[in-house]
Amino acid sequence: MLDQTTLDRLRSASVAEGHHLVDGAWIAASDGGRMEVISPLDGTILTTIAAGTTQDANSACAAARRAFDDGRWSGLAPSARKAVLLKWAALIEAHAEELSVLGVRDNGTEIAMALKAEPGSAAATIRYYAEAIDKHYGQIAPTAHGTLGLIHPEPVGVVAAIVPWNFPLMIGAWKLGPALAAGCTVVLKPAETASLSLIRLAQLGQEAGLPDGVLNLVTGAGAVVGEALSLSQDVDVVTFTGSGSVGRRLMHNAAASNLKRVYLELGGKSPNIVFADAPDLNEAATVSAAGIFRNSGQVCVAGSRLLVERSIHDSFVDKLERHARTTVVGDPLDPATQAGAINSLRQLEQNLSFVEEARLAGRTVLGGSRILTETGGYFMEPTIVTGVNPADRLAQEEVFGPVLAVIAFDTEEEAIAIANGTKFGLASGVWTADLSRAHRMVSRIRAGVVHVNTYGGADLTVPLGGVGQSGNGHDKSLHALDKFLNLKTAWIKL
Ligand code: NAD
Repeated sequence: MLDQTTLDRLRSASVAEGHHLVDGAWIAASDGGRMEVISPLDGTILTTIAAGTTQDANSACAAARRAFDDGRWSGLAPSARKAVLLKWAALIEAHAEELSVLGVRDNGTEIAMALKAEPGSAAATIRYYAEAIDKHYGQIAPTAHGTLGLIHPEPVGVVAAIVPWNFPLMIGAWKLGPALAAGCTVVLKPAETASLSLIRLAQLGQEAGLPDGVLNLVTGAGAVVGEALSLSQDVDVVTFTGSGSVGRRLMHNAAASNLKRVYLELGGKSPNIVFADAPDLNEAATVSAAGIFRNSGQVCVAGSRLLVERSIHDSFVDKLERHARTTVVGDPLDPATQAGAINSLRQLEQNLSFVEEARLAGRTVLGGSRILTETGGYFMEPTIVTGVNPADRLAQEEVFGPVLAVIAFDTEEEAIAIANGTKFGLASGVWTADLSRAHRMVSRIRAGVVHVNTYGGADLTVPLGGVGQSGNGHDKSLHALDKFLNLKTAWIKL
């Protein structure tokens, strides 16, 4: 953990203006446009970043195309790419404190979480794929005598990586690690409200020896920069984490341009199901509360729908209420804070509107208000809404805030029906001591991840991806490499 002196120094350090990285040079937007970065900690202007234009995005894609086609990266031995990536991972670790605080200052995550989830995870991810790539072999097909079928994995080409604001370094690295290890070149598009730590990450990548044009970065509005990336003829793959509406747009643009591959990691309304026979209901309450309130619920896999067996509903909700009341919400740069700021005023207002709608529909709301602070930052109380109907908007749509919808159920069958009754399928949780029931639930819940007697914390070795409208690709694990490798067949007559 950071000592207070370092924290105070980093908290008040001036933040450099952000620029695009194109072909190894840090440059301004083509029309000189700038975008303000508002700190969610106090609503002040932290700095400005380049407001990318369509031309900027196209220049970055062209640079990535050239860098891919001339083989300056894809043509290296995997062990040579690995050496650069390992150096990058080491540099990220060496700058972990600076990166964490910088990220917190524009996205609002509590520092304890940022230290755990951001640079540490980014470095580990880049190292994981660096270590994997020189052990990744092609295959020889089991053909008849007289022919040889060779299957060569080859880098796909230029990757546009478009990432959200909640964990920019961790999610950014989930894209950058496997794409760069595979030999692809990348144009990275950070979210408007979380660009700073990724800009610094890219600077460290240059320092580590990534050749010019291999990693490019364009900041600015998604509707301009992201739109241009998804329409680019130079881009072969879009890997995206963010909202369903943008995901839909990306697929549309891929179809309208060059049929680039589009991998989507989208939102969720993840059910966390607590049966009366859970092995430890106190632990279930502690972990379930953390699973929705940490990072103020701005977590894609947040267990935002609590399905609880009716016989324990009241006592379990009491336990959760205690956690909600005692969760320390506030200054993200105080190490004791358990839930930091809401990323933007727009997101805060969206969270509050969900709660207001539930209140008007007669649901019981604990918490639910904006927390007013002297600094004027964006903070919200951990909120529990009980008596929610599975058809309510609160039970069907992602809030992406610290709002837990609680629904009672009577039978396993009913729990499964409610759990599967949304358009999403990202994560889920089951709390039970019955081994057979646990396995039944794992097989019947429609989700990319089913946690059993825990929630969250699945590490890099396992894939993360959704089903239904939660997405179509996987980040993490060796499977993530598949998105960035083509399989080329050589069919040889001997
Ligand atoms: P968002 O969709 O608004 O933005 C994500 C990114 O897309 C940003 O970089 C943004 O600038 C860009 N973008 C916006 N409009 C675009 C357009 N027209 N074309 C191309 N790009 C565009 O999402 P957000 O608000 O930043 O993030 C929150 C969402 O991300 C939530 O739905 C959350 O569940 C999801 N998320 C999913 C995962 C996962 O792994 N499945 C992880 C984290 C967050």
